[in-house]
Amino acid sequence: RVIRITEKYKDASSSFHQEDTVVRVGQASVGGGNLAVFGGPFAIENEQQALDSARMAKEAGVDVLRAFPDKSRTSPYDYRGMELSRGLEIANAMKAETGLPIVSELIDLRHLDAFLKAGIDVIQVGARSAQYSPLLEELSTLDVPVILKHGFGNDMNEWLSAAAYIMSGIDREGRSARHGNRNVILCYRGIKAFETSTRFAADISMIPLVRSKSHLPLIADPSHSSGDRKLVERVAYGFVAAGAHGIEFDIHSNPAEALCDGKQAVLGGEAQRII
Ligand code: PEP
Ligand code: MN
Repeated sequence: RVIRITEKYKDASSSFHQEDTVVRVGQASVGGGNLAVFGGPFAIENEQQALDSARMAKEAGVDVLRAFPDKSRTSPYDYRGMELSRGLEIANAMKAETGLPIVSELIDLRHLDAFLKAGIDVIQVGARSAQYSPLLEELSTLDVPVILKHGFGNDMNEWLSAAAYIMSGIDREGRSARHGNRNVILCYRGIKAFETSTRFAADISMIPLVRSKSHLPLIADPSHSSGDRKLVERVAYGFVAAGAHGIEFDIHSNPAEALCDGKQAVLGGEAQRII
């Protein structure tokens, strides 16, 4: 049987693959009928903050812990993370302390080997790198699960095409030269719009739409979309009610003194209530 797949994002499309893809991360299943929670501090600042936040996130019930040595930031004067090898050491300490799998953002291809050696369980591609094809191509050679954030200036076609880059393993002659990485998790995080009182604008209708167009697991990030801890709980419920397979949000042991994005991070009690 020959089926013509007209979407530009073939491998990510539900016309290519009907059943929901389920990605396994440690004990957690992401996609299908499962609800998975990713959470932890926005970035590693120091060992104490990282471990306190990790314990807090674990106690609140997250399935996968955020442990980010590195951050892509809009301004070079903002906190951008710490020296890589020290950051990865602390990320590993967070994993050892909680027994949870960890997710880290890969902002630079040159860091990939160190990430793999450090045993990072999930690699996140941030909104600012979401269309950087050399990074996406490199991730297509691995099996490690990837969270692909939605670029805040991208439409759905661009987002799912970025996912197809990771999944297809297709070379420049259009041949499937590599095996491709099927373990892609999409993460919606809001777009740029004229409203500035919320950090980004979350279009809730993207959740059921993307679920109808793609078989990939789809989570959403109420911390980055709202930018305000007072909004995180309700926005998280909204995403899940709309059909998200889970959420990723910021949990910090001391948001008031966080080096970045403390305003959108919740404390342990709040995180527990949300989960
Ligand atoms: C993040 O998840 O830490 C992050 C910076 O998100 P985004 O790439 O969506 O801005
Ligand atoms: Mn779960």
